[in-house]
Amino acid sequence: MNLIELNNLSLGYNNNIVIDNINLNIEDGDFLCIVGPNGSGKSTLIKGILGLIKPIKGKIIYNDLKPNFIGYMPQETKVNSNFPATVFEIVLSGTLNRLGLKSFYTKKEKQIALSNLKILGIESLKNKSFGDLSGGQRQKVLLARSLCATSKLLILDEPSNNLDSKSKKELYKIILDLNNNYKITIIMITHDLDHNNLIGNKILSLKDDDIFYGTVDEFVRKVHHE
Ligand code: ADP
Ligand code: MG
Repeated sequence: MNLIELNNLSLGYNNNIVIDNINLNIEDGDFLCIVGPNGSGKSTLIKGILGLIKPIKGKIIYNDLKPNFIGYMPQETKVNSNFPATVFEIVLSGTLNRLGLKSFYTKKEKQIALSNLKILGIESLKNKSFGDLSGGQRQKVLLARSLCATSKLLILDEPSNNLDSKSKKELYKIILDLNNNYKITIIMITHDLDHNNLIGNKILSLKDDDIFYGTVDEFVRKVHHE
């Protein structure tokens, strides 16, 4: 089943087109990686999918999914290191979209936050101050927060930015596990995967006017032909 369909979609700012005429379907269970140089429109595409910017042309169809029930981890979430919040408070804030007219968290939201801390293996950090964590730990906390918003689709904008290679590996392993074992559909923008170590099942490559969308196998074959 298609969760999201992009039909002849063009996106940009003030009518300047950044992404032109894209057609693709995100199927339930997909792991789509979006690659491409800086400024190629990767983040813009994601903002469009999240409904943060309106299409210039074309449309986005959501099946069985509301845009505010997509988990989103933005690029370089700069949380001030003196930010006086505990890990649990930050993760819990990911449930805000579930509150509806309530203005307070109930046991249900707290359970969701706790179970996502467990899934990411960071339960022991629960009462720590966010500012005291390492970069890798912070990314796991922000991933747990984005997971609180969704049971279907996570969108991650360069989640491994600024991490050392060990923390990167660990984070990718967790994200793959969310896709394989928790059946969460993933759209991930990434910089540090070349064609020899791609993960996921589909690739969207935004490179000048040479847009590629297809399976990982097709992409690798294309790269070897170039
Ligand atoms: P990427 O994530 O691939 O690095 P972006 O989607 O951030 O690329 O940016 C694509 C293009 O859109 C760039 O030329 C950038 O300058 C422009 N752009 C991004 N955000 C805005 C904005 N808020 N207003 C105007 N132009 C923007
Ligand atoms: Mg970007």
